[in-house]
Amino acid sequence: MRRKLAAGNWKMNGTRAALDELAAMGAAAEGAAEILVCPPATLIAAAAQTAKGIAIGGQDCHPAQSGAHTGDLSAPMLADAGASYVILGHSERRADHGEDDQLIREKTRAAWDANLTAVVCVGETLDQREANNTLDIIGGQLAASIPDGATAHRLVVAYEPVWAIGTGKVPTMEQIGEVHGFIRARLERRFGAGVGRSTRLLYGGSVKPGNAAEIFAVPNVDGALVGGASLKAADFLPIIEALN
Ligand code: PEP
Repeated sequence: MRRKLAAGNWKMNGTRAALDELAAMGAAAEGAAEILVCPPATLIAAAAQTAKGIAIGGQDCHPAQSGAHTGDLSAPMLADAGASYVILGHSERRADHGEDDQLIREKTRAAWDANLTAVVCVGETLDQREANNTLDIIGGQLAASIPDGATAHRLVVAYEPVWAIGTGKVPTMEQIGEVHGFIRARLERRFGAGVGRSTRLLYGGSVKPGNAAEIFAVPNVDGALVGGASLKAADFLPIIEALN
């Protein structure tokens, strides 16, 4: 049985005033779905104090535990601040910071070593979809960015088509179902049926209160990774509700 997961990615948004929104999201904390919010790193420690019943995550971590890496944060630091999850391989990190699958694999390993659950993001660009390469791209990203030894406890996979993030565009439900079924099959083949069947798969890309229920009805969609609509409780709560 896979517990549904509503994950919010605040990206580079939010100062301490945003903790009021987080507190308001606590209204859904008793529901069936797990709630995760990944605020900017500056807010992780305060968010972990504020957010009763809401898991807190980072948005990235360095592969090393410590050292001369100015401006970076390690997985043990995130855990020490109160995070239990970390998003890795988001397409904005891949694009803005040139992150490749090998680096994401190393970061995922570092996250596991710090007892963080890694939310590993995969997804195709519009050009790749239009060239009918979506499944090849996703298969390659899964194989290269997830280390050996995955368990359902420490891995969540988020399918985020790059062209759907922040654009208001959403794939058809058939397209989402096809990719999620493919990811499930690949996880089962590599890690065994038990791990493959119990690992949660999130859809991400322009999830809103108005489309959440339809997306959550697609087989193998166990929740969502939500960007813009996770910033305000008024938007995020109905999405969480759609999972309950
Ligand atoms: C994201 O950044 O992970 C995301 C899915 O963003 P949005 O919901 O705003 O499209």
